[in-house]
Amino acid sequence: MTILDWIEDDRGRRWKPCDIVKASKESGIDRFLIAPPTHRPDVLRAAAGMGVLFAAMMLPVQSAISYLQSGDPAFGIGLILTPIYLIGFGLPMGYLVSQRNWRSTAHARDAMLGFVLCPSCAHGIGRIPPAPDGCVICPECGAAWRAGPTDHSDA
Ligand SMILES: [Zn+2]
Repeated sequence: MTILDWIEDDRGRRWKPCDIVKASKESGIDRFLIAPPTHRPDVLRAAAGMGVLFAAMMLPVQSAISYLQSGDPAFGIGLILTPIYLIGFGLPMGYLVSQRNWRSTAHARDAMLGFVLCPSCAHGIGRIPPAPDGCVICPECGAAWRAGPTDHSDA
């Protein structure tokens, strides 16, 4: 899951899924209970993704700066810096990503609804009577959810 992902509620409106840290804070449920490792991205894959992204951003910047300063794009130095970018940025960012983010929006939805929390804002929605269409409307953010795991039969 990336920051570009949206989660669709049961009335077809799109919301930003609540991240794991916020979900745990709002609900008081331990974040490893609400999001076990199977619900999180793999740390090393996230690290590789973030590291490559950062290196791809930094190499042209570094070369442009060297070129402006000395007329030499210094690609050699850039190659030496690449593993530093990968490890020095990728690993900590990958770790952070895997602590906060869900593996996918379906994982987010299923886990949060499993604990009777609104997947968009983590407000408890357990004692709210459902609307005629079966959706429970979150009083906090207005998202509409049907309890239970993702059901795509009506999509
Ligand atoms: Zn909500």
